[in-house]
This record gives sequence, structure tokens and C-alpha cells, in this order.
Amino acid sequence: MKLQKFTEQCFAFTGAVTIGYCVKEGKGLLIDTGLDDSAMKKVKRILVEEGLPLDYCVITHAHADHFGGAHYLKSKHDIPLFALKLEKAIIENSVLEPIYLFNGAVPINELRNKFLEGQAVEVDGELFTGENTIGPFTFDVIDLPGHSHSQAGLLIDDILYAADSYFGSETLKKHVIPFIVDADQTLESLEKLLHISCKGAIPGHGRFEENFTGTVKENIELHEERMKSLLAVVNTSPNGKTIDHIMREYLDLHTITVSNVGQWLLFRTSVTAYLTSLERKKLLSFFIQNNELIIKPC
Ligand SMILES: [Zn+2]
Repeated sequence: MKLQKFTEQCFAFTGAVTIGYCVKEGKGLLIDTGLDDSAMKKVKRILVEEGLPLDYCVITHAHADHFGGAHYLKSKHDIPLFALKLEKAIIENSVLEPIYLFNGAVPINELRNKFLEGQAVEVDGELFTGENTIGPFTFDVIDLPGHSHSQAGLLIDDILYAADSYFGSETLKKHVIPFIVDADQTLESLEKLLHISCKGAIPGHGRFEENFTGTVKENIELHEERMKSLLAVVNTSPNGKTIDHIMREYLDLHTITVSNVGQWLLFRTSVTAYLTSLERKKLLSFFIQNNELIIKPC
């Protein structure tokens, strides 16, 4: 983890996950917290070494790698937390992530780990789309749903902290099928990013770029290809297939070998999101046959 400076006000701790940081008039604002206590201890140590303050924390979305350290930050350093309404509800009731991944049922123990269930914590303030003020900081909250239901991007001092609305090229290649909950919203958010002019942007996973258009376009192309190859899997069987069958063929097609239940469920959410988008376009339909949920081309 290292502290990178973009402007007089804007910085980020870079590494596996981006933790944004802004300073103004002697106050410090953190954007996301990393996965756990140890990420926050490292951030705190670097800030103390650099003589930089920490007073507030904004959380972009309720995924454990972005808010898992928030409980530590609040309980040990009394830092108030801010998030958009729906993400706030999940951060405060973090068991909801393994619950939704497990079809709404009480999740099996294997899913109750720090990667899927960050430590729950009370969020102090709600953010709103548009201009927000916290202490001396004034920033724009940009709605960027699709990767999560109510993800926020932050535009502050002309730097965009884009959360997981797009991924850096290396991360995109590593994930193969990125996590999404809504394919249409994901594409709309990516399109929105193409029209934001600012000094530069940093995603939740990836590096800072002054011109991030090319990387955003790579994300758009990847989702379009993933959707097209999924429809091709569905189309090979006019009578339809179960989602498990589609999952197996689709993962094989992308040479993915899943190693645990959590990872499979994350992929299933993305596949379901793509299928839902294709259903909206009337390219396939869902129905029940012989007590099985079948997806068939239209
Ligand atoms: Zn995320």
C-alpha cells in the first residue's frame, strides 16, 4: 500500500483496493476503508507518518473489500461514516450480502467470511446524488449503479473516485466475468463516465489515469462480449437449459475453474444480471418445466 498524490487535495492509498484520501483546511476525508482492520491500521500509520489528518469517511458501496475496515475506523478512531441510503442499509446489516448471494435464505457458514461479509457498522450520515458537504469538503456524488445497487462515485477537486464502476485493464483480465447486479445499469454507468470531464480518475481496483476513456471503453466492450457469448450459450438449445447448465457451459467457455461456493455464487449473480438484460430485450425467457427453472431463446 502506498500513498499517491493527484492534486493538492486529492490522494489515494493504492494496492489491491483503492482507498481515496482528501485533505482540506486541516481536515482529512477517507473514501472507502479496504477489507479489514489491518488495512485501516496501515492507512492510519501512513497518515501519522505524513502528518496528515483523518476526520471523516465516505463509503462508495457495501462490498466487504470497500467497507470491511469501517468498524475499526469508527470504534477505534471515532470517525463518522457516510454512504448512500441502500448501501448504508447493507453496511449496517452486512449479513445481507451472503443472504442475497444465497437466494435470500440463511447462508451456509462457508459464505460467512470477511470477503463476503464485512463487519457491520452503523453509518452516521446519508449521502445524496449531487452536491454534498462534509466539513470543509464539497463534492459531487455521482450515481454509478450496476456493480452494486446504489454505488456512488465521488468527484472532488476535479478528481473522480470511480469505485467499482469500471476496473483497470489488469483487474478486468483477472476477473474475466466481473461482478455485476444489473448489466444495463453497468453499461449506462460506464457510458456516463465517458461524459465526465475531469483531471483524472481512479477505480476501486486499478491505477489512476488522466485519460481513462480507453479503460472505460475496454470495460464496455468486455460486457458486450460477455453478454453476446452468454446468449450464444442459451441459443444452442431451442428447448432451453437450466441456469446450472448455462453456468457450467459459460464458465467452461471462459476457461474459469471455480474453487469455492462463494466464487460460484458471485459468478451466478453476474450471469443472472446478463440473462435479465437479455430477457428485457426479449432475446430469451424464463419459465418452469418439470419443476426446473428453464431459460430458453425467444
Ligand atoms: Zn465492489
